[in-house]
Amino acid sequence: MTHATDVIVVGGGIMGLAFAWEAARRGRRVTVLERSDAARGASIRNFGMVWPVGQLAGERHTAAMRSRARWLELRDAGAIWAAECGSVHVVFEEDEARVLEEFTEQAPGLGVACDLLTGAEAARRFPAIPADARAVLWSPSELAVDPPRAIAAVAAYLVAAHGVDIRFSTTVVGIDMPAVTTSCGQRFAAPLVIVCGGADFETLFPDVWAASGTRRCKLQMLRTRPQPDGWRLGPHVAGGLTLAHYAGFEICPSLLHLKRRLAESLPAHTAAGIHVMASQNEAGEVILGDSHDYDAPLDPFDSEAIDDLILAYARRILRLPDWSIAARWHGVYAKGPDPVHFTAEPQRNCFVMGSPGGAGMTLAFGLAERWWAARAAVGHG
Ligand SMILES: Cc1cc2nc3c(=O)[nH]c(=O)nc-3n(C[C@H](O)[C@H](O)[C@H](O)COP(=O)(O)OP(=O)(O)OC[C@H]3O[C@@H](n4cnc5c(N)ncnc54)[C@H](O)[C@@H]3O)c2cc1C
Repeated sequence: MTHATDVIVVGGGIMGLAFAWEAARRGRRVTVLERSDAARGASIRNFGMVWPVGQLAGERHTAAMRSRARWLELRDAGAIWAAECGSVHVVFEEDEARVLEEFTEQAPGLGVACDLLTGAEAARRFPAIPADARAVLWSPSELAVDPPRAIAAVAAYLVAAHGVDIRFSTTVVGIDMPAVTTSCGQRFAAPLVIVCGGADFETLFPDVWAASGTRRCKLQMLRTRPQPDGWRLGPHVAGGLTLAHYAGFEICPSLLHLKRRLAESLPAHTAAGIHVMASQNEAGEVILGDSHDYDAPLDPFDSEAIDDLILAYARRILRLPDWSIAARWHGVYAKGPDPVHFTAEPQRNCFVMGSPGGAGMTLAFGLAERWWAARAAVGHG
């Protein structure tokens, strides 16, 4: 028997859920097919940072702010926990402070709200920030969500509020439009199929992925025990290394100089792609990371040396009451051409969505909204 619907989405991570939600909001009957018994990919392994400040001003930043609005809509509907925590970049070196100054001079004019604080000012507002920091970039736009719980809750919300049909433990092994076949021989059919398979390049359309230049990236992460006595981190915290990581800072003329200096003075961090960030979830646990390994094949085993580098740097940029580590893991995401523009259509009305790399929690809802709006504009809304 073939199960017929309007839209089939392959993959139940944040990208699949975002495209499914947008389709359902437009009155479509949607079926999501997810291989695992619950989402288990990058979407549950991340910091839960919704991070507009790191997105290049323009389309990426707009998509991030649209996603932010959608996360808050889910919070206001009672579906998820989300905190409007903002973020700080805490720096100690002169060249890092110069990048922050250049950023704060230009970014507000480009629609990116932010402010430059001294370490003492930041420490007065946020207990986690060391007062001897040379400069602190404060941005009010960032949100915290709790990835494992949020992804499960968004899926449940789509089912309850929009009647989306989500089938877990269902692996799609073939698409021959309009037919979609699973590894158990089930057949589904829809006039529109959207593939959001994350870092799986082998199962569906491997030729599309090979041609796209998309690579896998492995990241190591850690999580503390819940902080004592309800202690709260406040804003997400990042350091000087993060300035070299996010495209948002490319507007700063002295960024290139900083990147060169960081590569020379912190070679081990550079080699492991380490830049250090911290967020806190609803339970009070602080999530710390991360490293970036693009070398295929990715090592299935994690490196204690990398964890030690992350923790040592984290201890410089923030203060925590309890540094005991309760969990360690790694995640893998796909990083390819600009996700705002990369979409392939290997069969008519079957779309493979470009990966949002390290910014899926930040961009997915905005990307989905933008893609569906573009379809509507050409009469397929
Ligand atoms: C450690 C780490 C930290 C990060 N931190 C952040 C952050 O704080 N903020 C942020 O914005 N971004 C962050 N990211 C990036 C973000 O997590 C990813 O961009 C995002 O989760 C990708 O979502 P996705 O839906 O494409 O992939 P996934 O979450 O991997 O989902 C893909 C899903 O497709 C399913 N699937 C694949 N093939 C098939 C098939 N053939 N049939 C059925 N199902 C299939 C998989 O089982 C999987 O559940 C981080 C990523 C990592 C790894």
